Amino acid sequence: MGTNGASMTVERSKADLCAWRMEAIRRIEADYNRSADTHLIRVDLPRYPGITLYLKDESSHPTGSLKHRLARSLFLYALCNGWIGPDTCVIESSSGSTAVSEAYFAKMLGLRFIAVVPASTAAPKLDAIRFHGGEIHTVDDPRTVYDVSNALAAKTGGHYLDQFTYAERATDWRGNNNIAESIFAQMSAEEYPVPEWIVCGAGTGGTSATIGRYIAYQRHGTRLCVADPVHSVFHRHFADRRALSLPEGCGSCIEGIGRPRVEPSFIPSVIDRMIAVEDAASIGAMRALSARLGRRVGGSTGTNLIACATLIAEMAAAGERGSIVTLLCDGGERYGCTYYDDAWLDARGIDWRPHAAQMAALLAGD
Ligand SMILES: *Cc1c(COP(=O)(O)O)cnc(C)c1O
Repeated sequence: MGTNGASMTVERSKADLCAWRMEAIRRIEADYNRSADTHLIRVDLPRYPGITLYLKDESSHPTGSLKHRLARSLFLYALCNGWIGPDTCVIESSSGSTAVSEAYFAKMLGLRFIAVVPASTAAPKLDAIRFHGGEIHTVDDPRTVYDVSNALAAKTGGHYLDQFTYAERATDWRGNNNIAESIFAQMSAEEYPVPEWIVCGAGTGGTSATIGRYIAYQRHGTRLCVADPVHSVFHRHFADRRALSLPEGCGSCIEGIGRPRVEPSFIPSVIDRMIAVEDAASIGAMRALSARLGRRVGGSTGTNLIACATLIAEMAAAGERGSIVTLLCDGGERYGCTYYDDAWLDARGIDWRPHAAQMAALLAGD
């Protein structure tokens, strides 16, 4: 944390530190200026007249996932709080995507970065972290990532970014082109510009917190649904606030979402509904959507899509029309040897094919 930073930087003058911070923030802002907004892809559903699905394509960020937004916010938050200086080693506990994005920003600022990741993390994600100059520290028990990250920060005199604590507060929830503001702006010329539902997942809970608060602040009628793996604690906590952790850990294999403990950034009070999704269904939906779009999407996008299917069926049964927006959280490139490998799935007994067929029917373009 910043408290240790002082001793590391005694030889630097206050003016030097100030100049360094101004330059650091400028670089992040300049990167943002060079970036375009992410696309909102429209998916017509001819079998469900009057209901349209939209995908906010977060895979098109420079580091390939919605974590690009989070990493930018966490770095700006830490810089403006005075927690990061020119000699600070930056540390994060991350199952992969956050660390990839944070390594990108750390490199941009010339800072050392260490990702604390579960040993089970997909190899291509570790490659991506290293590609951006990050170092890897693996732990066998995913539940120890927090303690190990704190210990590393203490040892290196560094700063633990702590996405699970700070995601909900580092993001500007009232606007500043956050993901929610961007969605509503991009929807403005559609037949049903205010979605009936926005559907997302929860890893840190930051995205659902931002979207839920923004909907309330803008006084929209949109409801927020969070799709959660069956083996995650979040939907249990939503149903019963006393449920705080899963003693057996999170048994889900969908990277980026589902947690064994309720994270500080998960804000259940802004969520209208949660839907628990089996991993096999997530994978099946992911495969069907990839076939429909002609490009691979990640597993958590499949989880979102299963929840969308439930909501679409309910709207159709009630004779309602309208739009549903969900997130394409990341692309499928990093899952070639897992979710897109039939042998890998078969070896784990993941029976995804019936779910893929069902989703293909829902998404059918004719
Ligand atoms: C982090 C992540 C999510 C969930 O987003 P949060 O804002 O952390 O709740 C969903 N999908 C993927 C691929 C992710 O990396």
